[in-house]
Amino acid sequence: PVDLNAVVREVAQDLFPRALEKGIDLGVEGAGRPLQVDGNLVLLREMIKNLVDNAIKYTPRGGSVTARTRLAGAPILEVEDSGIGIPEADRERVFERFYRVLGSGADGSGLGLPIVREIADLHRASVTLNPNLAGGGTMARVVFPRGQHQPAPPALQSTYFPLG
Ligand code: ATP
Ligand code: MG
Repeated sequence: PVDLNAVVREVAQDLFPRALEKGIDLGVEGAGRPLQVDGNLVLLREMIKNLVDNAIKYTPRGGSVTARTRLAGAPILEVEDSGIGIPEADRERVFERFYRVLGSGADGSGLGLPIVREIADLHRASVTLNPNLAGGGTMARVVFPRGQHQPAPPALQSTYFPLG
């Protein structure tokens, strides 16, 4: 099993300089003690990195980003930002490869969220973008399977990370 909270802290630390540079208040909530999920450390790190990267990238200077974990029957990860938001009409399409919302501004390839969804799928987790936070912004929510004895996620092989 992987300690989701350790991964969240690690990613937040990695991306902290970028947040600082943009004057964004990057915080972690609820990650004080271990929260175990079945899965692959490298892939989960990649997933969380993509979500926090987006949150920082699409939040204007001076905003805030929170990466939160909690256990509500199932382990849940939420990455919330006070940024530009995602129009409702685009909220499913942004999971398509290369799809980017017109006018989002920042550079990107449109591959982050498709990767996030694929990694979530491999862990039998759902990922959704939750609309209409008060004051705009975006919240990405990943819900992992409940319970400690889920089947191991399939297909975590070297097709994703060729070893040379
Ligand atoms: P890449 O991640 O490949 O560098 P990207 O960030 O453009 O490029 P995705 O992460 O797949 O690609 O995101 C797709 C699009 O969804 C983005 O271009 C942006 O328009 C929108 N988006 C994603 N996350 C957010 C967010 N937190 N707030 C606002 N818009 C977002
Ligand atoms: Mg991205």
